[in-house]
Amino acid sequence: KSNSTKPMSKDFTYRLTLESKSRQPSPLKQAARYLSKEGMISLGGGLPSSAYFPFDHVSVGVPRGDLFSEKDIHEYAHNVTIGKHDMKEGKSAYDLSVALNYGQGTGSPQMVRWVTEHTEIVHNPPYQDWACVMTVGSTSAFEMCLRSFCNRGDYFIADEYAFCSAVEAGRGLGNDAVGIRMDSEGMIPSHLDEVLSKWDEKKAAKPFLMYLVPTGQNPTGSTQGAQRRKEIYALAQKHDLIIVEDEPYYFLQMDKYIPNSQSNGSSEDTTPKTHEEFLKSLTPSYLSMDIDGRVIRLDSFSKVIAPGSRCGWLTTSSKVCERLMRHNEVTVQAPSGFSQAILFKLLDEHWGHGKYLDWLVHIRKEYTQRRNTMLEACEKYIPKEVASWTPPAAGMFMWFKIKNEKHPSYKTKNLVELEHEIFEAVIDQKTLLAKGSWFFAEPEGDHPDMYLRATFAAAEEGAMVEGIRRFGTALRVSFGLPA
Ligand code: PLP
Repeated sequence: KSNSTKPMSKDFTYRLTLESKSRQPSPLKQAARYLSKEGMISLGGGLPSSAYFPFDHVSVGVPRGDLFSEKDIHEYAHNVTIGKHDMKEGKSAYDLSVALNYGQGTGSPQMVRWVTEHTEIVHNPPYQDWACVMTVGSTSAFEMCLRSFCNRGDYFIADEYAFCSAVEAGRGLGNDAVGIRMDSEGMIPSHLDEVLSKWDEKKAAKPFLMYLVPTGQNPTGSTQGAQRRKEIYALAQKHDLIIVEDEPYYFLQMDKYIPNSQSNGSSEDTTPKTHEEFLKSLTPSYLSMDIDGRVIRLDSFSKVIAPGSRCGWLTTSSKVCERLMRHNEVTVQAPSGFSQAILFKLLDEHWGHGKYLDWLVHIRKEYTQRRNTMLEACEKYIPKEVASWTPPAAGMFMWFKIKNEKHPSYKTKNLVELEHEIFEAVIDQKTLLAKGSWFFAEPEGDHPDMYLRATFAAAEEGAMVEGIRRFGTALRVSFGLPA
């Protein structure tokens, strides 16, 4: 559908907190629009002159062509340079004199244009008035969402195991998470419906802000299939929820895992051949099915470019975007100018959208390989009588279910104590895993099952296999199994 034939979003600004509603536009930022008037001399704003920025240019080495490996980037790097006055000199759409000065709360218009085009290519939201605002990453963006929609004492909805920083952000603001039960595809719709339908409004207001990581969820590694997403979206409509879809792992969606033992030695290359094929292979996002404008999608460059870029963006209805942009104005203002300038140079002027998709295909392939290596090590070393796992379809995490009822200390220790004992047994083997209990959405809740999380993102492949071997040894020692 072309944009003009799409419906307009519903208005969710009635859900905003007093804090968010009370924000007025920054008068200084408002004044910026007069600057576009021909011949205007500004004595009004507080923008320092770029003459006093002690930088003439920034030069960065980026991949040449399709040479995406670390070694190739090192050996054949292509240098791109961002000069101070490239715009005035007609060399570029962005330069240091602008990037390093104060700018708009939306982030630089150049980056906003790029992320908006990218969002249209990948998600094509089915309503007219959507917009993007730059963020300093999804951790901050979710905290903005909490402050904008939840009052102290309100609850928000999350998976029963959820990203710790999201849970902690809520705790600090007086917003506890309500954990919804999960299966191998993440949040279970019937349990979500049950919790909301039976909510006791005498206890607290019925929660309406829902935090989801639909793809390669942290910590469980689970990915919601298209049907699961449709069911949850329908429930969001039924209960009038706002869905925050936090998707740092969206592009790390992998091929189905075929164990070596079943692949008959054939290793078919299933890398998507075209951009269309790649985009079609991705599970549809909530944003792509959001006819109401009830989704706030958080994108981040952290897992596909670099976490230290501290740069991402959010996408939602322009009415809500405007409020979140006001929040930026009085807090972070915008991502760092260095970050925006370097990303723009790479993404827009060096790569363009097509080459960026090629990069994402490359990253996806790298992670697929790492996942497969870890899964093969698990097959080999982890005693299946005491641990099980589902091959992740996306992301960076493996989630091991530990059969705690088989442990010799099962009767004498509670879940958290026993989890600690096993965790320490793994540490004794000089391997670090993450405890499942670190991710409880409701730490006080009832948790009969035990889990441990491993990532295939961090260690190089040899160390990863050795780590899994040690984990297997630790399980045997701790459970008293034969070596
Ligand atoms: N959201 C989830 C689910 C994550 O797992 C992480 C990183 O671990 C983040 C957000 C952090 O993202 P950012 O670096 O954009 O703040």
